[in-house]
Amino acid sequence: MTPTYGRVLLKLSGEAFAGNLSYGIDSAFLEYITGEIASLVEVGVQVAVVIGGGNIFRGISGLEIGIDRATGDYMGMLATVINALALQSALERIKGLPTRVLSALEIRQVAEPYIRRRAIRHLEKGRVVIFAAGTGNPFFSTDTAGALRATEISAQLFIKATKVDGIYTDDPVKNPKAEFIEEISYLEAINRGLRVMDHTALTLCMENKIPIMVLNINKPGNLLRAVMGERVGSLVR
Ligand code: UDP
Repeated sequence: MTPTYGRVLLKLSGEAFAGNLSYGIDSAFLEYITGEIASLVEVGVQVAVVIGGGNIFRGISGLEIGIDRATGDYMGMLATVINALALQSALERIKGLPTRVLSALEIRQVAEPYIRRRAIRHLEKGRVVIFAAGTGNPFFSTDTAGALRATEISAQLFIKATKVDGIYTDDPVKNPKAEFIEEISYLEAINRGLRVMDHTALTLCMENKIPIMVLNINKPGNLLRAVMGERVGSLVR
């Protein structure tokens, strides 16, 4: 079976990395996610991953302890590098998948610098590419980094991994009356203020016509079903 989407960008939040922990990296999640990613590689999908850092540090929370926003954001970006290295190691050790970490901030001893053409070359060779350090700029989010990288590598689908089944009219964890939205346009998602992603990320996807699939990452097989063209979660297009 040929996948519907040959090249995808998967956005994993730092929160997902924490699994059931309140901080740090959950080994059970690492093991689980390597299996899910491997299932995509097995069917020939080129996989790029953008990782968040919220399980370790968020720029905004630095303000509470006297750290200025820009510095806090750089700390957040470094947190994403830590997650990226953990995922790389797990993918290689558990699944034997060749993986490259490309960092938007130069940290030559631990990761390659982000070079667009190099990223595409790695993907063509079947390597999993992990984009670390967000966009490399403070005041942005890793969702925006995901939208930017997806555009740069011409990804056919942006997969936004979440803990819920997709997009709802309200937070389904807090509001049992929240309604599930199967499909929505970019503009409507923005205008209705639905918390799919921040507006910068949504706008980038809209301008570059990259469909966004919001799905529950904790349901085994969801990722594979999504790339095979099955409707999993919600679609923004
Ligand atoms: N960050 C940034 N610029 C970027 C991407 C991330 O400054 O391009 C910082 C920002 O402080 C953010 C932190 O890195 O809070 C971690 O990223 P994010 O909160 O997006 O991670 P997630 O919510 O996905 O875990």
